[in-house]
Amino acid sequence: MHREDIEKLYANTDLPDDRLKELIDNRTSEDFSLLSRYARERCREFYGDRVFMRGLIEFSSYCKNDCLYCGLRRSNKNAERYRLTPDEILSCCDQGYKLGFRTFVLQGGEDNFYSDEIFCGIIGSIKEKYPDCAVTLSLGERSEESYKRLFDAGADRYLLRHETADNEHYSKLHPRNMSLENRVECLKSLKRIGYQTGCGFMVGSPYQTTDCIVKDLRFIKELQPHMAGIGPFIPHKDTPFGDKAAGGLELTLFLLSLIRLMLPKVLLPATTALGTIDPMGREKGILAGANVVMPNLSPVGVRKKYSLYDNKICTGEEAAECVQCLKKRIDSTGGELVSARGDCAE
Ligand code: SAH
Repeated sequence: MHREDIEKLYANTDLPDDRLKELIDNRTSEDFSLLSRYARERCREFYGDRVFMRGLIEFSSYCKNDCLYCGLRRSNKNAERYRLTPDEILSCCDQGYKLGFRTFVLQGGEDNFYSDEIFCGIIGSIKEKYPDCAVTLSLGERSEESYKRLFDAGADRYLLRHETADNEHYSKLHPRNMSLENRVECLKSLKRIGYQTGCGFMVGSPYQTTDCIVKDLRFIKELQPHMAGIGPFIPHKDTPFGDKAAGGLELTLFLLSLIRLMLPKVLLPATTALGTIDPMGREKGILAGANVVMPNLSPVGVRKKYSLYDNKICTGEEAAECVQCLKKRIDSTGGELVSARGDCAE
């Protein structure tokens, strides 16, 4: 067992890279018990038992990119493509607001159909109608100028997972026209502009090693994001990684706890992917130190078409049912699902 390392991590919010590597590679179930107990304690110091909900609106399944892991990649000819109109997006928000959501996350493939003007219009309408709500964007890589325009239109937060902080690994997950360097530049622009910024990575993506994971943790620690999205990789049958293994539950939970201890105030979702690889995945995520859930507000008719990976959960239920179901699940962990913007603790 690694009691000394875990105590140090709890006290100092960090460990040297070689100790992180040792802890991850030779972790025991006793390690996880202690680590997750400390992680929850840390989370509680800043957020109490509150778990924040974000309404996810998957507005487009068109994508000009060709990331090897993602079902929306442009080479996937079997993918069904759709776009939501600004009015459809707004009616998702109307429904979400009534259900208690105070954060709306607009996520989509990188779809050139939506110009800055269109996005600024959508963001402006949401903020005008719901000034008490935060708007989070997850639109992939754009220019700093574009990020600035969307920010000035009222967007509050931006999620852009870095996917992996190792150059060589990055090049195995992405086509040649994409680079870690550009991804990191985007994240720095977002922070500079003033967005509450989120990075993150997939656990168990093909070719990931413990060294990659240690680099991810170091990267996150240095970037100091407001949010970190960590979920297991899950294969999608119509991608080059269709026959690769999914990321593990237990490693994902271990990393959630590590991140909570390294960045005590970070907003950390128990992701849908985590709920997909294990029926109790999100509950276990909360117990490991996560404090955010992101139920789907997309119209039920398009949900199956936003297929990042196979067997994604919650594609058949109405948003209201998802909120009810999640509330029960969070209750069972001793947490409380709250209706609040849920900004990062000061
Ligand atoms: N186009 C946006 C949104 C991408 S979807 C962007 O580039 O940021 C959001 C996240 O889903 C991605 O960042 C990726 O980490 C995750 N994802 C994609 N394919 C996945 C898969 N097969 N398994 C698990 N997560 C996946």
